[in-house]
Amino acid sequence: MNIQKMKKIAVFTSGGDAPGMNAHIRAVVRTCLARGIEPIGIYGGYEGMINGNFLSLNRNFTVNMISQGGTVLKTSRCEEFKTKSGRKKAYENLKKFEIDGVIACGGDGTFKGAHALYEEFNVNIVATPGTIDNDLYGTYYTIGFDTAINTATEAIDRIRDTADSHGRIFIIEVMGRHAGHIAMDVGISTGAEFIAVPEVETDVEELYRRIQNMREHTRTIIIIGEGGVFLGANELSLELKKRYNLETKYTVLGHIQRGGTPSVKDRVLASHLGMGAVDGLINGKTDVMVGRIYDKIKYTPLVEAWRKKKKIKEYMFELSELLA
Ligand code: ADP
Repeated sequence: MNIQKMKKIAVFTSGGDAPGMNAHIRAVVRTCLARGIEPIGIYGGYEGMINGNFLSLNRNFTVNMISQGGTVLKTSRCEEFKTKSGRKKAYENLKKFEIDGVIACGGDGTFKGAHALYEEFNVNIVATPGTIDNDLYGTYYTIGFDTAINTATEAIDRIRDTADSHGRIFIIEVMGRHAGHIAMDVGISTGAEFIAVPEVETDVEELYRRIQNMREHTRTIIIIGEGGVFLGANELSLELKKRYNLETKYTVLGHIQRGGTPSVKDRVLASHLGMGAVDGLINGKTDVMVGRIYDKIKYTPLVEAWRKKKKIKEYMFELSELLA
């Protein structure tokens, strides 16, 4: 693949969808066109790459796209791509369609696939962080995180009204896979009495003590991040009943956190990363994630981006306890 004469750049979205992916695709397409490069869309993530689902994109394609949730290029989870023979088929299609560079927007699974394409076939490939979980190293935020925490906050504000009216204890589970970034931000933004993140074992005794302190006043909101090896919302609710005979309600927010109109922050981030990805490829970057630290584009080796876990900042734990 010839970096000097980059004529065609392909973009695809993969893994879990995230609001802002469309703003990102739009930015990639428009930056390509501005740089005299033909943008190609690969439909359906790695599955589309294996099946040769490639389409030339133009400016018209991107009209009114910036405000749409989901991904117009669709996404997939593709087991075949995890095999070398699957990746070989994908590579053959990249060659057939004369793709000089690839932009993969997704989470850590997508990054592993992109890294394999680089290692095995020397594909010029950069990845962009498209996941609501915000768990990737090398970028302050990932595309979709801001919208997801705002959506969750809005939903929890509504639940709080009913919790307040009845003086109830509500346990609310938010997304985040194995990372507690969503839980922590949403917990602080909704004034939760207790925030349980998957990184830390839930101290049920401490939780009970806090609930007791709260009971004379009003309702109690407990936010719990999904995917921990510890307790989920349902189990925590049962545990509180078993240990202390305490009645609680639990709600799993689920997929509503993924959809919807992207926030301004996500649109700007997605746009900036789109430009950074195209310009990165033109300048010979490969096997890297394109991230943003403060307002600057930063390129981080893909392996580092998924291996070095982004930790929840210590002050956030302090804040959550101080203000509970
Ligand atoms: P995300 O990108 O949001 O983390 P997944 O973990 O489902 O979502 O990964 C998306 C896709 O990336 C998978 O369906 C698979 O095709 C590919 N992938 C994931 N892990 C690997 C791996 N170790 N090697 C090659 N491809 C992978």
